[in-house]
Amino acid sequence: MTRDEFKQLTKNLPNVVIAIRKTSGSEEIYYSTSIESLTGYTDEEMEAKPGGHLSIVYEDDFQEVKKNHSEMYSKYNGAPRSFDYRIEKRNGDIIWVREAIQFDDPDLLKQTLIDITEFKTSNTKLQKEKDDINEVNTAKDKFISIVSHDLRAPFTSLLGFTEILLNEPELPEEEKREYLNYINDASHNQLHLINYLLDWSRLQSGKISVEARRIKVKSLISQISSYLSGTLIKKQIKFKMNIPDDLFLVADEKLITQVMTNLISNAAKFTHAGKSITVTADRFKKGMVEVVVSDEGIGISEENKNRIFKLEEKVSTSGTNGEKGTGLGLTLVKEIVEKHGGEIWFYSKLNEGSEFHITVPEAKNLILLVEDDVSTRSLYQRLLSKITPNFEVCEANNGYEAISLISENIPSLVITDHSMPLMNGYQLVEAIREREETKHMPIIVISAQINPELKEKYSALGVEQIVLKPFNKEALSQSITEILE
Ligand code: ADP
Repeated sequence: MTRDEFKQLTKNLPNVVIAIRKTSGSEEIYYSTSIESLTGYTDEEMEAKPGGHLSIVYEDDFQEVKKNHSEMYSKYNGAPRSFDYRIEKRNGDIIWVREAIQFDDPDLLKQTLIDITEFKTSNTKLQKEKDDINEVNTAKDKFISIVSHDLRAPFTSLLGFTEILLNEPELPEEEKREYLNYINDASHNQLHLINYLLDWSRLQSGKISVEARRIKVKSLISQISSYLSGTLIKKQIKFKMNIPDDLFLVADEKLITQVMTNLISNAAKFTHAGKSITVTADRFKKGMVEVVVSDEGIGISEENKNRIFKLEEKVSTSGTNGEKGTGLGLTLVKEIVEKHGGEIWFYSKLNEGSEFHITVPEAKNLILLVEDDVSTRSLYQRLLSKITPNFEVCEANNGYEAISLISENIPSLVITDHSMPLMNGYQLVEAIREREETKHMPIIVISAQINPELKEKYSALGVEQIVLKPFNKEALSQSITEILE
């Protein structure tokens, strides 16, 4: 076969074909034109390279390829063979290729080269996913064995004390009280542990749905500090807050409250009387809010630092007043933060204090205005720029447009007209409520004719704010401030 005949034969083949003809003492090598799309070098350029495509074999794989080739020549038994290696393309990209070799006659070696990069990377990805799953499973097994021990352990003493109380009615009152106190404490701790376990397993199995909504960070932390004020007062711990007024996050209110309560009560638990706890929050990387809980407490030992958050290494030490724990709080906190797309990390110095950082998505300052009449829309626009100057307002002409805008960017509030062509306000609200992410999104409806029946229907969909037309500046402005604050 001449070079021309080879080129003609291989002209339209998608895979790269290589022919190597050995004649007495010399070797001729031909590449099909498809070599260019694989490597970036034309067939002529490749043929002119000393060693042909072997000259672009990736450095680390070169020895192996050479070995395979020389074995091929010396021990070839006629069966087709293939092996994989990496090559460096003209543009510097490294790709995986599979080379298959076949001799048609002892002097004509035919090779094909195909790109298998995608296959290789998806295979490595699959292997990594498999390894990760195995790792998580081993961690879970270990965790379950630790927790099973913790679940069973207190019952020996609980049963022991209750039996003494039942069988020895003559016990002194003081001793009775001591045993009852023990039973009470142990039962509280046990209930705590069981609640954590149930929450954790529900989060793991996806049974807890995250109902994200816009939450003002300052109000969230103030509310938690008032829940915990009993503990803080009892331990004489000062609570400080440094949070901007206009900072909002998007999260499930119950779950994020659980996270912050846990972090702040840990800070209180591991801090001595007279010291303080500070919660600061601010905008972090693009689109995220960072909340930091810092304490001046006892800190975390180097040994425990590597064990915190690890399921299989449950760490629990007593607080500065001997408060007991479950060692599960932070595992749950991490799970919840990650479910919201955030991260958690900490810094701590023994006897100086600890800082726990979390990130959660920031709520966008966006209002969606749905109104079919252009001039009314511009009237509302003007009003909104006065009431909520920090908010971007986007406009939709009708319900369909509104739904498509919402699916791109969830607004903090939707203000919609009731009577609109194509889809009225009620139908729009129904469509919004169908989606998990917008189930609780605040909505204000503006309408000229609202009857009690319609009002009730809106109320059933969670819309309580209905502003009557003709345009009522005060009523609208009051509804907006109520919702966004
Ligand atoms: P628990 O507090 O119920 O034991 P957690 O998972 O909340 O469980 O915390 C695990 C452990 O991490 C605690 O027992 C304690 O050793 C350490 N830890 C957590 N937060 C702090 C903190 N603010 N200061 C010092 N140690 C802490």
